[in-house]
Amino acid sequence: MESYWLCDDCLMATAYDDYSSLSLYYSEAEVEARINMMQAGLRDLLPLSADFDSHTGIGIDAFSTQPCAACHCSLHGQRHRFTRL
Ligand SMILES: [Zn+2]
Repeated sequence: MESYWLCDDCLMATAYDDYSSLSLYYSEAEVEARINMMQAGLRDLLPLSADFDSHTGIGIDAFSTQPCAACHCSLHGQRHRFTRL
């Protein structure tokens, strides 16, 4: 099984279909461009299954320097592991 590490934004988009956190950081045009990139990237990876445990921290990298597997954003930060079904 292949594993993918997704950034917080993509985690929210995949798990909750929630893009609201983006508006805190980007202008309206940038948010739209970023959502398009995230959706295109996520579509390529689907179907995905969450493969992390927020209680034990397994499958969560608190500070990764790897780009997100879906949106390819290279901002360092938290990544959550997903597995392709
Ligand atoms: Zn991402």
